This record gives sequence, structure tokens and C-alpha cells, in this order.
Amino acid sequence: MRDIYHSVTLDKDKCRGCTNCIKNCPTEAIRVRGGKAAILKSKCIDCGECIRICPHHAKIASTDDLKTLSNYKYNIAIPAPAFYSQFSEDIDINILLNALKAIGFDYVYEVAEAAERVSIAITNYLKKNDRTAPSISSSCPAIIRLIQVRFPELIENIIPINSPMEIAGKKAREYGVQLGYRDKDIGVFFITPCPAKVTSILRPVGVKKSYINGAFSITQIYSEIIKKLSSINEADLENLQKSSGQGIIWGVSGGEKHAVDYGNRLSVDGIHNVINVLEEVEMGKLNNMDYIECQACIGGCIGGALTVENRFIARIKLERIARRYGQKFSVDCDEVLADYKKGEYFLKEEIKPKPIQPLDKNLGRAVEKMKHMEKILEDLPGLDCGACGAPNCQALAEDIVRGYAQELDCIIILKERVNELAEKMVALSKTVPPAMGIKEPEEEGTNNWD
Ligand code: SF4
Ligand code: SF4
Repeated sequence: MRDIYHSVTLDKDKCRGCTNCIKNCPTEAIRVRGGKAAILKSKCIDCGECIRICPHHAKIASTDDLKTLSNYKYNIAIPAPAFYSQFSEDIDINILLNALKAIGFDYVYEVAEAAERVSIAITNYLKKNDRTAPSISSSCPAIIRLIQVRFPELIENIIPINSPMEIAGKKAREYGVQLGYRDKDIGVFFITPCPAKVTSILRPVGVKKSYINGAFSITQIYSEIIKKLSSINEADLENLQKSSGQGIIWGVSGGEKHAVDYGNRLSVDGIHNVINVLEEVEMGKLNNMDYIECQACIGGCIGGALTVENRFIARIKLERIARRYGQKFSVDCDEVLADYKKGEYFLKEEIKPKPIQPLDKNLGRAVEKMKHMEKILEDLPGLDCGACGAPNCQALAEDIVRGYAQELDCIIILKERVNELAEKMVALSKTVPPAMGIKEPEEEGTNNWD
């Protein structure tokens, strides 16, 4: 079994145990223990909410170092569409792509172009009669992991088509091979807006191995690009920009919904909103929908935790850029359809549920523990303050039953116990031992004392 990997990690020296992150984690995967945050690996979906929320920059995403490029003979960058929205709109996309070459890549393949291909593939998939409706988009890996962990019964709703990032990786690799490079000498690197994509490269879901070797965050690459822009000579530009607005618009929420052309479509962004919508899907309230685009970040990938531009500004910019590059697909639709029919776009492995560990492997004991948990929850104050290091009282009750915490971790209960103890001590301090007392002892019905 492949081990659990997470690209979100903690810089313990910077963490002050402020509890901000535990209250915003959508899967309740963080606790504060001993004054520091700790991530519960089985629950974390790498959405990056904690990176965004931490006021002390203690949560970090593991990405590659540019020195990694020296491990390969031919390096290809595959930038996410959101990358384009991070710079001034006046800078042509082709200049940005050439700037990527200038920082050390040999070639650039746009994920936006792959997104066009995936839009065509999804449109065809939605025409199938035997799919489970509503179909849920598979492009955001944080959502896939959320479904695996929290909504395993919705796995069959996930569209079994590779993400634009993976398709771009595949196309980039094929290009390198066409040039005569051996597969092992080709390095394909994603320019990522989020940690979830990094995790999906290193621990892919639905495929055995990713076509991509690693990732650099937009935050990391941004200053390198800015440094190179002034030295780019427009006369020497290689034509690397191929995508149309249909692929570029995938970088904002609603972009997929726009590019996929079939049926009743819904777009939802922001992990907490997605959770609400998935609960409705679970209850069968959205069976009239054909397609639901779900993105963990507010605004879509332009709002990813590893971007630099304000997400609202980035949205306006990307929408304008997409309009500039037109609505006509740049890819050959017939070729995409032929590849789709050959199964080229489909995931090769089943997506497996990753449900949270039961309270006990033994069903009888699990029921007992559940009852115990409910009893503990009744006794807790219900303030959901987070001072215990768990995100809410329910989570603390569960932690107590699992043996990770104790009732006295709740500061209200601790205060009550201290008060009780103090009252007992005061009462005790007023007690005078008989030898020092002034009152004569009484014994009912007798007169044994003289
Ligand atoms: S938000 Fe979380 S990681 Fe950041 S300082 Fe507070 S407890 Fe630590
Ligand atoms: S919405 Fe985009 S940036 Fe945010 S977690 Fe999903 S893939 Fe990453």
C-alpha cells in the first residue's frame, strides 16, 4: 500500500499554537498539542486552507528546488492557467512562457491547451447514459481527496477523466520523446497554484504514476520571471502560446462549466461551499444536474494558496485574457475525440475511498464508544471555542474516546473542577480537628463522655 504523503507541512519554530488553523480546516485535520499545530495525516486533503489562514506563516508547501532541473537533459514547464493572471495584463502570454524558458526550461506546454482537450472529453463523457448523475469534475485534487475521505459514496459520481495537468504532462512527455530524448531524461514540471496538485503528482489518484516529475509554486517562480522579463527580446521569441480562451478560463471558477458544453451545469467554489453542495448531492437533491464543477479554492485556481495576486484582481485579469484569445478551440477536436474513444483520457485505476478510521474495528465496541462519545459531548459546554486544541466540542469528544485527549483539556471543565477543588479546600481549611475543638462530642442516647 502506498504510504500517505502530504505536501502541507509545519514549521514548528514559527507556529505559536494560536488555533486559527484548526478552526478553518474543512476536514478537522489539525489539532494543537503542546503549543504547536499537528496534522492528522488520514484527514488532511492538502487544500491549503491552513497555509492561507496562518498569520505566522507556519504552514508551508513542499515543492521542488530549481536545481532539480539539472537532474534531467530536457525540462518542460507546464504552467497552470492561473499563472497568466499573476502578472500585468499588458504582458503577452507568449512573453511569460518565454520567460519560463529563460529561467531554465527547454520547452513549455500550456495546461490551458490540455484543458481544452479535457473539456471536449468531458462533454462526450456526459453524453453517456450509464453514468451516475450528477457527474462531479475531477480536476481539483483537493476535492477528490475530500470525496475519498468524507463522501466515499460519491466516488462513482467523479468523472473518470484525467485532469488537464496530467494530460499536459502526458503531451509534454510525448513531445520530448518525439525530439529523441529518452523518457527518463525528460523532466516535466508543473507550475502550481496549490499544494493539492503537488500531492497529486507524488501520490496520484486514478493513475499508477504521474506523467509529471515535480512542481514549482507560482509564488516561487514569480520573482524569477519578473527578473527575466526585462531581458526578453521580442524578436527572439519562440511561439509557445497555443491555447484559446476555452482553456485559459479553466483558471477561474465557472471556467470548466463554461468550456464543457453539455446539459445542466453547476459551478461551486470554496471548500466549505463544496461540502454543502456535496451534502445535497448525497441527499439526492441535485439529481437534475448533469455536471458539477467543484473547486476547493474561492474563485478557483486563481485563489490557490500558492499564488501571489489578489484573487479578485486575478479573476478579472484572467477573464479578460481569455476573451482576448477567443472562444474557438485551438486543438483539433476530431483528434481529441479519436483519442477519447481509444481511452486515452480516462483514469486507469479505480478511485478508492479513504474513510476516516472507525472508533473501533469491533462493531460492538464501536457502538459503545459512540455512546460514550455522545455522553462526553453532553457534558462539554458546547462553546466550540477551540481552546482545547480541537476545532470544536464534537471533535474533542471524539479525540477523548480515541484516547488522544482528556476531558480536562476543555478549559471550562478544568475551571469547574478547579472551583470544586477550591471550594473543598476552603471547607477543609475550616475543619478543626477534634483535639483542637472547643465543642464537646455528643453521642446520641448515651452519656459515654465524662
Ligand atoms: S494558525 Fe495554526 S500553524 Fe499557524 S501559528 Fe496558529 S496554530 Fe500554528
Ligand atoms: S481549486 Fe485549483 S488551486 Fe485550489 S486546490 Fe483545487 S486545483 Fe488547487
